[in-house]
Amino acid sequence: MQVETRVRAINCLHFINGQFVESQNQKTFENINPATEEVLGTVAEGGKEEVNFAVAAARRALNGKWKTMPIVERSKIIRRIGDLILERQEELAHLESMDTGKPFTLANSVDIPRAAFNFHFFADYMISVNTDSNMQDDIALHYSYRRPVGVVGIIKPWNLPLLLLTWKLAPCLAMGNTAVIKPAEWTPMTATVLMEICKEAGVPDGVVNLVHGFGPNSAGAAISEHPDVDAISFIGEPKTGTAIMKSAADSLKKLSFELGGKNPNIIFADSDLDEVIETTIKSSFVNQGEVCLCGSRIYVERPVYEEFLTRFAERVRTLKVGHPLEADTNVGALVSKEHYDRVNSYIDIAREEGATILTGGKRPDGYKKGYYLEPTILVGLDRNSRCVREEIFGPVVTVMPFDMEEEVVMQANDTHYGLSATIWTNNLKRAHRVAHQLEAGIIWVNTWFLRDLRTPFGGMKHSGIGRTGGMHSIDFYSELSNVTIKL
Ligand code: NAD
Repeated sequence: MQVETRVRAINCLHFINGQFVESQNQKTFENINPATEEVLGTVAEGGKEEVNFAVAAARRALNGKWKTMPIVERSKIIRRIGDLILERQEELAHLESMDTGKPFTLANSVDIPRAAFNFHFFADYMISVNTDSNMQDDIALHYSYRRPVGVVGIIKPWNLPLLLLTWKLAPCLAMGNTAVIKPAEWTPMTATVLMEICKEAGVPDGVVNLVHGFGPNSAGAAISEHPDVDAISFIGEPKTGTAIMKSAADSLKKLSFELGGKNPNIIFADSDLDEVIETTIKSSFVNQGEVCLCGSRIYVERPVYEEFLTRFAERVRTLKVGHPLEADTNVGALVSKEHYDRVNSYIDIAREEGATILTGGKRPDGYKKGYYLEPTILVGLDRNSRCVREEIFGPVVTVMPFDMEEEVVMQANDTHYGLSATIWTNNLKRAHRVAHQLEAGIIWVNTWFLRDLRTPFGGMKHSGIGRTGGMHSIDFYSELSNVTIKL
């Protein structure tokens, strides 16, 4: 199905030292529209050579006027980037929707406004960052001093392209670093437009650079192994995190990893089921389930299990799967053929594992082209099944009953992942008790995806290393020195 848009897809070039450039060998690859399987445009394919140019530009810029710019000036530029994103909101939301397959309405209401807010938030926050001072009797004055880490490599996934890039780039710039960015190969468009915006906002040449390309043996690996890159901010799969950690080891880079999740959504019988169901619809299927925080393992206390299942399945069947640019679409297309095949392979695995597919599990009627999959509920699976244990990263959830609090905590923690968890209960003591036992970096009680950018964000176990948000971001993107003055 073809839907007309006023916004045209763009061809994507690298952005190095303030200029859009082709690859040295002029190599490109095709950018495919997941909703139609048509070619949206071409993307410059970068590698070692382009990364070398970008890192050199970033290193020069680190010691240029960016270094001496008063903090208030830098903050104004960062705020202006946010303003310009909002001025181009509709265009950016269209590009994001075409690239990822996510509904335009979602990109326009969440991804793009949040991308702007990332800059607005850190433009304000950076001004309020204090450093400590300590008087040691009348012997000495100690004070701490923050400086940028240096050249930061920012390597990004495809699911929330602009939102996640800006979540890292805003604090990176706020603390005076320079950046070499590699967007995901499947979703290059909004990052490219962001480079125009940075230039227009007054970011000096070389401070922000972008190299398109692939991961292993390509632009991604070239950034993570480059000896002149000081830190890597990576969001993606745990196994990619392992590869990046290995290649970053030789030059002992500072690392921030936000990785995958297989997050439990725990529903106790005393919770408000209306609210549970509406929020669980979102935490299961928003963005086609392609959100690291999605609560794809649903555990329901036995007394309300049947009622939850019936009402949840009824509500899921009302979700409209459709072209991302249609106004009433709830669930768009999965990002690529490769990912679509991977998610579908889990439906086959579920069948082999003896699951009942309560709803979904197939391509919606009327869609011959595009990577569409109906929202899928799997029940009757064993807790050791692959569908329960592995991150599917698509519109597929498992639902299981439980009897005891201890049992559900044990099952929730029985995974390598530890990103987020949701607890539904009106029992305050239980809410705290369970929250303190769950091995996850982000725990929501009676809500999901409610964020305050000052709070710590990140995962434990294989879901990440370090935290971002507020001072945690400031800490990662700066180096702290202590100065002691003998009196
Ligand atoms: P991915 O790890 O395959 O790719 C992420 C990025 O890394 C891409 O730009 C890719 O080109 C690059 N890359 C791949 N191999 C590389 C290598 N050897 N060296 C350097 N770069 C390399 O992940 P993805 O499929 O794009 O994203 C989905 C994953 O991201 C899921 O696991 C999801 O849970 C996770 N994710 C986590 C968060 C979070 O905040 N924790 C947010 C979004 C997505």
